[in-house]
Amino acid sequence: MPDQQMSLCYGTAILVEMNLVKINRGLCQLLGYTPEQSVAIASLSLTDLFSDSDKVQIENEVELALQDHSTSQALVLHMANQHLGTIPVALTLKKIIWGSLPTVEMTFFDIHFTYSKLLEAREQDQIFRDMILQSAQGILVHQNFKPLFVNESWVKLQGGKSIEQVLTMNTILSLLPPHTLQHVKQRYLDLVEREQSKASNVVENIGLDGVSRYFNIYDNVIDWQGERAVQVVLEDVTEKVVLENKLKYQANHDDMTGLLNRRAVYSWAENQISQHTPLTCLLMDIDDFKQINDNYGHSVGDDVIRALSNSANKVISDVDGVIGRWGGEEFIAFVPYMSIQQTQCIAQTICQNFREITFQDFQGQVFHATVSIGISYMTTINREQSLDALVQCTDTLLYTAKAQGKNQVCIKNRRHEHLLPAALFA
Ligand code: GH3
Ligand code: MG
Ligand code: MG
Repeated sequence: MPDQQMSLCYGTAILVEMNLVKINRGLCQLLGYTPEQSVAIASLSLTDLFSDSDKVQIENEVELALQDHSTSQALVLHMANQHLGTIPVALTLKKIIWGSLPTVEMTFFDIHFTYSKLLEAREQDQIFRDMILQSAQGILVHQNFKPLFVNESWVKLQGGKSIEQVLTMNTILSLLPPHTLQHVKQRYLDLVEREQSKASNVVENIGLDGVSRYFNIYDNVIDWQGERAVQVVLEDVTEKVVLENKLKYQANHDDMTGLLNRRAVYSWAENQISQHTPLTCLLMDIDDFKQINDNYGHSVGDDVIRALSNSANKVISDVDGVIGRWGGEEFIAFVPYMSIQQTQCIAQTICQNFREITFQDFQGQVFHATVSIGISYMTTINREQSLDALVQCTDTLLYTAKAQGKNQVCIKNRRHEHLLPAALFA
């Protein structure tokens, strides 16, 4: 039967003892008969036209309709059609008096076109849902961080056990390290209230298994059942971020001691100077280190370098200073907001701590080492060359400490431009 003929079709019949009688032309057409055949189908049983479950529904509605005079709500059913097998129809019932008997008039509407469109839309919806559910990218929809939808990949990427586990969470904020919370909340507000920023963003998450991972996050405002929600797509970039961090670390640190390298410590000091932070500079050099190498071997020499690095690092870090390896057996440190007397004390502590360390070579021979330190002090620095000048001045003082017998601290206060007497600890 062609679509055009069916599309606006409706038909009526009267129900007598669960049989359809008085079937009009429209219903004949719906059932796939010609009007001429209407006599042949003058009476049809519900059982001929409907499945058992549809029949039960109709019988229930008939009972209700007989108690009520209003038209019933439409039922969606599948009715037998001679040519098409079954077709979807909407049925409404209305109580009437027929030959003095109360019965119901049934009106059938052909909804096969609308119904097939609905099925098509549902199918599309399902395909789309399946696509999202099976996507390799982690996808989550949330409203104010309460998860509304999540796919398997998201659960896996976050080290979770099941979709249910995520959907029962009250908030996904618990996956964020505390220091990132404010930024993430602000991003949400910008997105939902001001529709700003759809750019991707790398964030750290502590997964449901407690493992830290980095994700590139793409978030978007979407309509979720009539309300605004945020769809988040995750891409795991942990390996890339870890590698970048490692390279960044390597670019700024000395392999052997783990301290900052010359470039990094210099850049830290430049930054402090640009903010007019008063700085003290210390240059340290292990005394007679060549002899240590010659007497005990290069690898023992390395241990001595590491020992000074560790012990000096503790002292400098305690006063919020920064220390780096300047090269070979030399170290540089900068200490902010420290008086000349305090710095002198710090340097003397470094000398003393180092002197007290007992080293041992491969033959079990024990020895001690000493260090000489030069110190220069600057208050607010304005000139561009200042840092170089400060380091240069400190280097001269270190040289003076060496010349004066090593194992000592030599100080010069740049404001007063006079050399303080060297402190000897022998
Ligand atoms: P001074 O008391 O005047 O500082 O004399 P010194 O022997 O300590 O100084 P010198 O500059 O003559 O010798 C430093 C030696 O340090 C030379 C170099 O081979 C050695 N050296 C440089 N880097 C390393 C290192 O990483 N490990 C070891 N074991 N030795 C190193
Ligand atoms: Mg040296
Ligand atoms: Mg030396």
